[in-house]
Amino acid sequence: KRIPLIAANWKMHKTVGESVAFIEELQREVGAVTDREVVIAPPFTALAAVRRVMTAPGYRLASQNCHQEAKGAFTGEVSGGMLKDVGCEYVIVGHSERRHVFGETNETIRLKVAAAFACGLVPILCVGEVLAERESNRTFKVVDEQVQSAVLGLTPQQARELVIAYEPVWAIGTGKTATPDQAQEVHAFIRERYAALCDKTVANLTRILYGGSVKPDNVDSLMAQPDVDGLLVGGASLEVGSFKRIIRFV
Ligand code: 13P
Repeated sequence: KRIPLIAANWKMHKTVGESVAFIEELQREVGAVTDREVVIAPPFTALAAVRRVMTAPGYRLASQNCHQEAKGAFTGEVSGGMLKDVGCEYVIVGHSERRHVFGETNETIRLKVAAAFACGLVPILCVGEVLAERESNRTFKVVDEQVQSAVLGLTPQQARELVIAYEPVWAIGTGKTATPDQAQEVHAFIRERYAALCDKTVANLTRILYGGSVKPDNVDSLMAQPDVDGLLVGGASLEVGSFKRIIRFV
């Protein structure tokens, strides 16, 4: 009942030409997808060009970030409305690099989630602990605070649409994937907390993605977990060969 969602986060990679070539090759090789959603988050500069060539059913466009205000004197920023205008359906909010490299706080992220919904975009809210937090048994507390803060004030409809991505920071770009059991444990916790914060029916419909060193050889065991509803893929989403294999998890 939860439609799997496989998302590519290209981060600061690919020119317009490389982005278009990737999408054309991916669609040629994979074709329409009907039983899952494939979401591509290119850099801002390639959004419009990717939109034009993304024609096969089941593919959706996402942005990697948005600003919380609708417009104004915010040099260098892009609003949710602008992203909707260029054809985005999703926006990644609160990625660990935004939190830890660019200093976004739970409060900023809450505003961005609200702004995304106000613009008709579905936020993919990223949460996850750093290594020191895991090692001092604070994983659940940190993730709970991140989720709780971000969903404050959402309507039941918004709470149902929101996508949550659990990305343990120590697993991002390190090759150290969380084991399927480690992922499942946190995903089940997030769903349980979400049920308490929103409602059980909503929590049962909410997709919780795993991200952090997802590769072709660990995708099947991660997706086999009952509370892993999809994946947010960085490095392995940059090559058609590996991303194609990840999309086709069994
Ligand atoms: P990697 O797949 O490169 O570890 O990146 C994960 C990530 O940050 C996706 O948002």
